[in-house]
Amino acid sequence: ISFVGVLIIACPCALGLATPTAIIVGVGKGAREGILVKDAATLEKLYKVSTVVVDKTGTLTKGKPEVVKVNSVDGFKEDEVINILASLEARSEHPIAEAINALAASRQLANKTVDNFEIIKGRGLKGVIAGQEYFAGNLALIAELGLVVDEGKIKQETIEGKTPVILANKIKVIGWVMIADALKVEVAAAVKTLHQMGIKVAILTGDDKNTADFVGKQLGINTVFAQLLPADKLIKIKELQAKGEIVAMAGDGVNDAPALAQADVGIAMATGTDVAIESAGITLLKGDISKLVKAIRLSKLTMRGIKQNLFWAFIYNVVGIPLASGIFFPIFGWLLNPIFAGLAMALSSVSVVGNSLRIKTKNL
Ligand code: ADP
Ligand code: MG
Repeated sequence: ISFVGVLIIACPCALGLATPTAIIVGVGKGAREGILVKDAATLEKLYKVSTVVVDKTGTLTKGKPEVVKVNSVDGFKEDEVINILASLEARSEHPIAEAINALAASRQLANKTVDNFEIIKGRGLKGVIAGQEYFAGNLALIAELGLVVDEGKIKQETIEGKTPVILANKIKVIGWVMIADALKVEVAAAVKTLHQMGIKVAILTGDDKNTADFVGKQLGINTVFAQLLPADKLIKIKELQAKGEIVAMAGDGVNDAPALAQADVGIAMATGTDVAIESAGITLLKGDISKLVKAIRLSKLTMRGIKQNLFWAFIYNVVGIPLASGIFFPIFGWLLNPIFAGLAMALSSVSVVGNSLRIKTKNL
């Protein structure tokens, strides 16, 4: 009888159910809240995160930038500048490109044919139109080309959070446009909650330093790393990890993909590029960053659920096995009837599944 009792009670069903049931319920609850968990292991890591690193364009900002100003330099017409820029940008997938193309379309400028088009990573792009080579991009690109531009004028606007796209040929700057991208409304509150949770927040962006600082100041984020190439974003994440931080990275762009893969938890915006979504363990629907706070709470809930489950799975065995094996028989005359052993075994599975289902009822 003891032998049968021990066999029954030692059956590890509940133990096997403890982790997967909690994760399945957690992932399901996440899906209902617009948090798509691709890799369950990320749900087990997210609650430990000490630093959240966010990309600026498309993650903090709406990623629907607009051209707010056009400047042309001696002799060139505004429309000419827009036309050349739009012809080049037509081949780019960057949000900046959409803004410029929208403006060209509204002015009914037909794009010119571009040869030898090339993306200059983290800087801009270049191409040949009617035999003339053109470059378009940020201040760093212009500096690399060894050209001069009226920086004072441009700086004033970057301090206000705008991004410049400067158009130049090999010899000189022809003009520039200023692009503004509004902050997502929910971002400020999300950053505040993260800070209250004791989580550090930092911005990683390929954009201009002044533009990024402006956004940081508006959101109360003090740590801002700007003018980063995709590889630099990856290095920054590694640096933070080397300092012992557990890093979650949220981003949307092709340029964020390496960093998303390197971070302990990669979080992509559903509005972003496929590569970013592919590299991340979690995707937030509608690119809503406030869901990140919910995802962290969900992770905490799920992990707590797993621990409680393991308790329920073990406690029946810890109490039941000695009892069933007859340890207490010589002293108290206690022995476990195999029927009760069977009942205990079933109950432990029921408590585990029941406890997992409780996660569903919790508010995030
Ligand atoms: P982010 O998404 O953080 O802005 P990127 O690496 O995509 O980072 O871009 C870095 C910077 O390079 C941009 O802020 C912009 O100044 C310039 N840039 C990138 N792509 C383009 C483009 N298609 N046209 C003009 N400038 C661009
Ligand atoms: Mg981006």
